[in-house]
Amino acid sequence: MVELEDLPNVGEKTAQKLRDAGFADMMRLATATAKELSVKAEIGEGVAEKVIEAARKAEQIDFETALDVMERRKDVGRIITGSTGLDELIGGGIETQAITEVFGEFGSGKSQISHEIAVTIQLPPEKGGLCGECVFIDTENTFRPERIKQIAEGFNLDVDEVLGKIHIARAFNSSHQILMADKVNELIQGGVNIRLVIVDSLTSHFRAEYVGRESLATRQQKLNQHLHTLQNIANTYNVAVFVTNQVQARPDAFFGSPTKAIGGHVLGHAATYRIWLKKGLAGKRIARLMDSPHLPEGEAVFKITTEGIVD
Ligand code: ADP
Repeated sequence: MVELEDLPNVGEKTAQKLRDAGFADMMRLATATAKELSVKAEIGEGVAEKVIEAARKAEQIDFETALDVMERRKDVGRIITGSTGLDELIGGGIETQAITEVFGEFGSGKSQISHEIAVTIQLPPEKGGLCGECVFIDTENTFRPERIKQIAEGFNLDVDEVLGKIHIARAFNSSHQILMADKVNELIQGGVNIRLVIVDSLTSHFRAEYVGRESLATRQQKLNQHLHTLQNIANTYNVAVFVTNQVQARPDAFFGSPTKAIGGHVLGHAATYRIWLKKGLAGKRIARLMDSPHLPEGEAVFKITTEGIVD
């Protein structure tokens, strides 16, 4: 295995800087951008470029054939949501190596699904999980251990054990949120078996902090950077990323939906799966798959119960 110190231009001091900045892993380094690396590890951009190039050589990152891609897709893991209808809609569950976004109005069930999969990720594969742990980046103080307890009991799981495998990061502002996502790399490199990263909500801080048209470009740029980090974690470590997004009222819409997901085209392109949640009659929720690279658009209906999400 190639160590950091084996790379050209990397001495003991630079290696330490890289490790401290969360680039202990060759693949993480190979998929970084020079700008990102120079800012985070505080090294010159020229050195960063060389280091990245060497890491890419070491990891043999080059063209790959469709067969290679197919091989890699075989490693994709899936996490059940509790509703078989919803699972089927998205091809068998929330996928690893991808970003799944759910958006919808207040109370549509975004946080409930987040809590549910924080539990189901821990199930063994034959029961729909990946025996994994998860990171829950909580931006609106919506995480409730009591809710995890109810869901875990529904699956007959040991509650303390389940709670012990959910790593909560309370993010106080968008910069903190970006930082916490970066820190997931360290957690994984430290040996914690993280297979799912939840960000609930992805956009609330960005929306609150960057108000008005003049700050829109900065907001989208920051959000883009954050999504890049998340996508990188998903690809590098075969992790599922699940993000929630609010919708903003669009009173000028006469046709179609009167609501619109925050984040605009940046998020639209970054998320592999986008699910729109709507409230239905009698406590039901309707999930609509919006864009997917290989699945047809469609809808599923589910319910939120004390034990969690069900058909
Ligand atoms: P949001 O989309 O705003 O994140 P939530 O995921 O918080 O919405 O969903 C809130 C809804 O979940 C509530 O309106 C309620 O119907 C349902 N809910 C929350 N907790 C429970 C529970 N313990 N048992 C049953 N339903 C619940």
